[in-house]
Amino acid sequence: ADPIDAVRLREDFPILAEQVNGHRLVYLDSAATSQRPLPVLDAERDFLEHTNAAVHRGAHTLAAEATDLFEDARATVAGFVGADAEQLVWTSGATMGLNLVAYSIGGASASSSLALRPGDEIVTTAIEHHANLIPWQELALRTGAVLRHIPAHDDGTLDLAAAAEIIGPRTRIVAFTHVSNVLGIINPVEEIIALAHQVGALTVMDACQSAPHLPLDLPALGVDLAVFSGHKMMGPYGVGGLYGRAEVLEAMPPFLTGGSMITTVTLDRAEYLPPPQRFEAGTQPIGPAIGLAAAVRYLDGIGLERIHAHETMLAERMRAGLVEIPGIRLLGDPSTGSVERVGLWSFDVEGVHAHDAGQFLDARGIAVRVGHHCAAPLHTRYGVTASVRASTALYNTPDDVDALLDAVRGIRPYFGV
Ligand code: PMP
Repeated sequence: ADPIDAVRLREDFPILAEQVNGHRLVYLDSAATSQRPLPVLDAERDFLEHTNAAVHRGAHTLAAEATDLFEDARATVAGFVGADAEQLVWTSGATMGLNLVAYSIGGASASSSLALRPGDEIVTTAIEHHANLIPWQELALRTGAVLRHIPAHDDGTLDLAAAAEIIGPRTRIVAFTHVSNVLGIINPVEEIIALAHQVGALTVMDACQSAPHLPLDLPALGVDLAVFSGHKMMGPYGVGGLYGRAEVLEAMPPFLTGGSMITTVTLDRAEYLPPPQRFEAGTQPIGPAIGLAAAVRYLDGIGLERIHAHETMLAERMRAGLVEIPGIRLLGDPSTGSVERVGLWSFDVEGVHAHDAGQFLDARGIAVRVGHHCAAPLHTRYGVTASVRASTALYNTPDDVDALLDAVRGIRPYFGV
């Protein structure tokens, strides 16, 4: 396929024309939140200007049109990950999706196949974002289940031999990220899913950092549940998706209860709608869902294979430049060509705190993330408390990477180390 023309595509993103501190904005923080193209901004605005109404059961024309747009958006976003509309639950984001799953399982009745008993095991990995760690810590505390972790090698890859030992007859849930938001490594999720399914465990995948960058077919992957966030994939804030296999969603009790998720209600009890509505209590983020559908159409219009190729090219340019700069240490082995990645790198600047490095870069118009990126245990693993993360998207150019490299070369001299 043709390489993408990032210079042309940048015109779709008005914010990229901003000046920051007297410099052209070099936005290298898309792993935290992506920028939104005009079709996404327009879709939300058009909806609010012309069609805004609460969905489902409205007697008026706008309500019917809004319902159609909302349900079409569900089908579009589900299709983006290879799924059917009924397999997609709207959430407010990945954190909400993961908490929904953990709280639903925690609330399963003792007779449910999902119920956890003391001594049952929940397995996560040592490289998770806190959003895919803390809900499982809490679930373990509430149920008496034991939390275990698949460790990572020094190069950042997961230790699959250890995974094969850890995932066993007591394992009930295996929760893992598709792509690490710190390392950028694409994990061998097929193998983890196979290990989990051998022992009948439920699989939960965090697809936050893969959905915007790689083609995804969740049903083909065979994962039971997966989450993603709209704002990381060129869509609006406040909307995300929970994908679930039909049998799994069917077995899950609701997490939040209230309006829009019931069939009949008496003063004493209620009957619940089937999935996905069972998990959508209250008024949903209708405009954002319509915006997210525009975002995935935009991504699909360019093509995820082409996006991945472009971002991999940028990441390789970044890696090759960073390893040449004295005192820069990349998190995860920078020499392995065999590890598949998305377009981001995190690094430590020897003798300079990540926050100082971030401010130095910001003064030159370069936006990066500093801190532990909500993955404190992974930073502890590498003996640092914080790092600098530069993450790319389809709208970044080799010039952006070169601006970063030029600036990073100046950090340690500036701070006199
Ligand atoms: N998982 C990963 C891998 C992430 O990168 C993020 C966002 N930093 C999240 C989960 C949480 O996403 P959100 O804050 O949109 O809920």
